[in-house]
Amino acid sequence: MRRHHWIGGLGVLAGGAAAVVVIVRLTGALSPPPNEALIAPPVVVVEAPPMPLPLPPVAEPQAPLGGAAPQAIVEPEAEPVVAAALPQGVPVLAPAPRLPTPDCGQGPKQAAAANAASLRTLAWGPFHRPETGWEVYAPRIALEIGTACAPDTPGFAAALLAWEQGRKLPADGQVDAGAFNVMNTAWLLARPFVVASQKGCPPAAPPGQLVQLTGADIYGKPERLLPAALAAYRRMAADARAADSAIAADKKMLTVFSGYRDPAADAARCAKDNNCQGAVRTICSAHRTGLAVDLVVGNVPGMRPDSSDDANRLAQTKTPAYRWLIANAGRYGFVNYTFEPWHWEWIAPPEALGP
Ligand SMILES: [Zn+2]
Repeated sequence: MRRHHWIGGLGVLAGGAAAVVVIVRLTGALSPPPNEALIAPPVVVVEAPPMPLPLPPVAEPQAPLGGAAPQAIVEPEAEPVVAAALPQGVPVLAPAPRLPTPDCGQGPKQAAAANAASLRTLAWGPFHRPETGWEVYAPRIALEIGTACAPDTPGFAAALLAWEQGRKLPADGQVDAGAFNVMNTAWLLARPFVVASQKGCPPAAPPGQLVQLTGADIYGKPERLLPAALAAYRRMAADARAADSAIAADKKMLTVFSGYRDPAADAARCAKDNNCQGAVRTICSAHRTGLAVDLVVGNVPGMRPDSSDDANRLAQTKTPAYRWLIANAGRYGFVNYTFEPWHWEWIAPPEALGP
């Protein structure tokens, strides 16, 4: 049993045809729009448009991605500082055993050739806007199907074929919208906020319980989170920096650029920006819970770390920080919204999740 099953599979998905039927039925209702998931229309949007962020300076040569520090951000008024104690001894699951290094040359050659061709050319819209290629989702797909092989290899196609066969899906080893939608639905359902949102917008975090992030934790302006999420974040970021010097070398990498967002402020901004995902809908962001964080995982020079430009998202999924998160964040209780490489939700103490 791979340890990431709880992220991508929800257990039941490993089962037979009945589970597959349920998932396929849910897919239409759960497919999210570009700006994070739209659930149970017409009421709930999982995340509001993010706060405006400063552009990183572009004049000086930057590290390949997101290297330069942002200009200082001056908040119009100071946020209240809540002196809540952070929980001690954040539980963390042990690292997953390394996958055996496969022979990535072994597998269906025709499917590998098809994947190699579609990787950067597939015309589709898995998040309700046109996209070209699936390279941006390749790391998450590789995790889901349990392979370390590159997406254009026979080994990758073999892993996908086995994943499809295990779910009684049409099995050809090729990445397409059908297989991806099954995965994506499972990834959405692995987010408790998304599941809860189907019954209405979950309550916001009690402001008195939020703690403030400053200093090395933040990208610019101060942010707030619930104490357990902050403790898990700090442990995760520290371990990532310790594990990979390329991550540690950039002091802004993995800093938080958005945490708790006041629902009233979110609603006011979406109204002001005329971006409420439809007039009859109430905005409902995962950031209201105090458990969601937007983390710097790099950016194309000149683009913000929350830019959903396809070039930016693709570049982000190639950074050491994102690759480390995809492989390890689950051990700290964080799950990703796949469309946005920067958006992570803390879902539970890992020991409650089981192996
Ligand atoms: Zn977010």
